[in-house]
Amino acid sequence: MLSGFMKVLKFGGTSVGSSAAMLKVKQIVESRSESVTVVASALGGVTDKLLAIAKQASTGNAAYKEELNALIERHMTQMREVVGAGRMAATESSVCGMLEELSNILKGVFLIKDISAKTNDVIVSYGERLSAAIVHGMIAGAELFDARQIIKTRKYFSRHILDWELTGKLVSERFANAPKVVIIGGFIASDRDDGDTTNLGRGGSDHTASILAAINNAESLEIWTDVSGFMTADPKVVPSAYVIDRMTYVEAMELSNFGAKVIYPPTIFPVYHKNIPILIKNTFEPEKPGTLISGEPSSDQRRSIKGISSVSDTCLITIRGLGMVGVIGVNYRIFKALAKAGVSVFLVSQAASENTTSIGVRNNDAQLAEKVLSEEFSAEIAMGEINKIFVERDLATVAIVGEDMKHTPGIAGKLFGTLGRNGINVIACAQGASETNISFVVSLDSQQKAMNVIHDSFFLSEYQVLNIYVAGVGLVGEKLLEQIRI
Ligand code: ASP
Ligand code: MG
Repeated sequence: MLSGFMKVLKFGGTSVGSSAAMLKVKQIVESRSESVTVVASALGGVTDKLLAIAKQASTGNAAYKEELNALIERHMTQMREVVGAGRMAATESSVCGMLEELSNILKGVFLIKDISAKTNDVIVSYGERLSAAIVHGMIAGAELFDARQIIKTRKYFSRHILDWELTGKLVSERFANAPKVVIIGGFIASDRDDGDTTNLGRGGSDHTASILAAINNAESLEIWTDVSGFMTADPKVVPSAYVIDRMTYVEAMELSNFGAKVIYPPTIFPVYHKNIPILIKNTFEPEKPGTLISGEPSSDQRRSIKGISSVSDTCLITIRGLGMVGVIGVNYRIFKALAKAGVSVFLVSQAASENTTSIGVRNNDAQLAEKVLSEEFSAEIAMGEINKIFVERDLATVAIVGEDMKHTPGIAGKLFGTLGRNGINVIACAQGASETNISFVVSLDSQQKAMNVIHDSFFLSEYQVLNIYVAGVGLVGEKLLEQIRI
């Protein structure tokens, strides 16, 4: 295949989740004149369903069969509704074959009342395999590639991570003589050593698409989903939020890492390194322009930030004490203790006076974090050099994101001024020197207000338009008009 002339189109769970949606996918793919690789997710909700059914079967609960039958029915019905008569027999035989295998595996799990991680990975892989087979049946002239033969993982502790080198070689070979349309299931892979079925982690179909785009030097990567792009904020929280038409890889990374679920964060790296643009499009409103993510900074001079994101699940842990000032290694010990306990830290703030370090963790991790930190500093706490570890639960973290914040003075002033004017107390804040993100922590009750006032301040006009009509100008009216004129 000629590099640079192929596009990778990834369709998410909702885009293939019903017959009507899948037929839109058909239209989108068949309208293309260039070569395309179509990466399909499992039908919406199927991955969760498969995991739930597997769990149910492994406890010896025969009710799993009903759930399985519903899942079989869903795939069979959708297949019959979208696949044309000419290709029905072949598609049906492949889909039925897979559903039968899946039923047999689940029966085994049910009888043995046990499930291993390996078996779970096999079961969950049917979601993308079935979906890809149906999409393949629907699009004439397309060829179906088996992701497990070309996307290879290796074991890394208890996880599977991509083997770039081997995947690069296998993908290039497999795509060397690819037809105009290739269909492939996202998410799934296989182990490079024993060939076992594995996957790239939940949400991993985006990652498959990005890997294929990078290796094949695609012209672009299109992520087809059920929203019309990245928005300036979560529209459920901020009703005036709108779609961002262009953004950089860094901005997309910042926004998707933190709240916005438009794209799976690891997706961005492979294409970023090759400078391949990503286009986020809505399968249900394909005429909308969507969001274009590339290396080019967007030229919108009017806006100094790109978006606002937030996570409500925030607990702030504070380590403070006069005994910390000037002592080397306190932060090292904090992060070592947390890392050993597997606690992920998403926000760090330390004042230059060095007597307080605050870290943001999820509420679920709070208890463990408090325990390991209290143990780590037990001697200092006993001596009074460090205070008791302070835990504040049920907070929210809000972040403003944008590359244009760099070297633009006044953004932090505007942000904190807006919060202050609206009576919102900032509990902690953090800004990395990359200046692409300012994050701050507020109480959960003020999260929604904080998001809205910041959104208004950065994205809507600073000035309200006010129409004043003055009837019968007397002394007061005359003075008023005079003042307005100034
Ligand atoms: N089906 C997988 C999941 O739900 C992968 C994906 O859709 O991206 O996580
Ligand atoms: Mg997904």
